[in-house]
Amino acid sequence: MTCKEAEQLVMPYINKELDDKELRAFLSHIHGCQACYEELEIYYTIYAGLAQLEEGTEEQNMHNLLEESLRASEMRIRGRKILNVYYIFSQILAMLALTAIMIMEILKL
Ligand SMILES: [Zn+2]
Repeated sequence: MTCKEAEQLVMPYINKELDDKELRAFLSHIHGCQACYEELEIYYTIYAGLAQLEEGTEEQNMHNLLEESLRASEMRIRGRKILNVYYIFSQILAMLALTAIMIMEILKL
């Protein structure tokens, strides 16, 4: 992902509009690119700050909020990955069970 592409995803990221694939590419770029991270932090500070004003919640450290948000996004991706592994594993188990049943049927005949 280029910096230009990452910049275009900053607002969708803040609005939680990225799909998993975009989110993964965006996060990996943000981690490797100080300029884009800072850009994200500026936007995040502004928009999360505005949202807080609207909600009337206590002022919080924006940097920490962003870090929390990034961590949550990563956990979302990681969680999805683990689910995929379970899904594939269960598919394999189902196939093995089916094969075992077939072999037993064949041996019976
Ligand atoms: Zn960049």
